[in-house]
Amino acid sequence: MAYERRNIADMHGYVPGKQLRGAETLKLNTNENPYPPAPAVLEALSSITGEQLRCYPPAAADDFREVAARLHSVAPDQVMAVNGGDELLRLAIATFVEPSRPIGVVEPSYSLYPVLAAAHGSPVVRADLDDDWGVPGDLAERMNAARVPLVFVVNPHAPSGKLTSVRTLDALARDLEGVLVVDEAYVDFVDPELAHDAVELTRAHDNVLILRTLSKGYGLAGLRFGYGIGAASLMAPMLWKTRDSYNVDAIAQRLACAALRDQAYARETWGKVRGERARLSAALAERGLSAPASQSNFLLAAARDAQRARALHAGLEERGILVRYFDAPRLDHRLRITVGTPEQDDRLLAAIDAIR
Ligand SMILES: *Cc1c(COP(=O)(O)O)cnc(C)c1O
Repeated sequence: MAYERRNIADMHGYVPGKQLRGAETLKLNTNENPYPPAPAVLEALSSITGEQLRCYPPAAADDFREVAARLHSVAPDQVMAVNGGDELLRLAIATFVEPSRPIGVVEPSYSLYPVLAAAHGSPVVRADLDDDWGVPGDLAERMNAARVPLVFVVNPHAPSGKLTSVRTLDALARDLEGVLVVDEAYVDFVDPELAHDAVELTRAHDNVLILRTLSKGYGLAGLRFGYGIGAASLMAPMLWKTRDSYNVDAIAQRLACAALRDQAYARETWGKVRGERARLSAALAERGLSAPASQSNFLLAAARDAQRARALHAGLEERGILVRYFDAPRLDHRLRITVGTPEQDDRLLAAIDAIR
């Protein structure tokens, strides 16, 4: 006897990147920051007291919301803390999408979006990205025609690393009738010279929800901490109605505050990743594995065909190096490779040279 709802029985779950055990394994498959969190984060961790664990945490993470609000020059009621950015995706669906109404995505993109849609009982309306991974110009028109109440756009795009401009997103937000979720999981790695800041969209539009996470930029994937930024009117129902009663724990709140406060440390790691991104991209291109320009901490390297991509993926795994392979349209001859430290990337390049 199966007791789950029909849509749950029919759906497939999210497939996370592989986690191999063993200290020798080099994980370049889940886009973690190769550098550890700031020393202040570990100090905050070691100063946690029994009393802080005995009591419930601040339900809406007030201290964190203040720190994040200051960082982004918004009001605290425009910010909410979540147990990993993925929780915000689920909350946005629960809050803004009537059961069985469709959810909009561009393809290819983060494979969790259709999983969350299926769990909610929502069909997915898909729009293909342009040949250069850009958001199609008629996206708003198509989503409005399908009466889609919520659209997910990841920017910089995953898995290509392409950055869509704030101007393009501004027009999209203006034209969309539903909510636009801008998933900025990788925005910390954008070249600062581009002065890219999508938070300004939340002042001009009451339908823009920005997702941030500490998993990538702040080296805290193990902590499970993210946050959303939007107009106060957009955030209020998630903050005060659909959020779990104590959705982020006391330890995570303190560590997240410490991480955001040390911008100098975080920026230094982002700079190192950007420098290495350029070097690795050139080195991969020399090996016939060129990738589109990435503003993220990964590269989508194209092999000459799917067979070569699969052989590299398997050969690297045999050598203890994990990269991500997607058996999907437009992606099946490519590998998504996280930018590591210079030493890690040298090991990757040597292994690629050894696979014939
Ligand atoms: C990593 C990631 C997230 C959020 O991850 P969390 O670890 O849950 O914060 C969201 N979107 C994309 C595209 C990601 O890669």
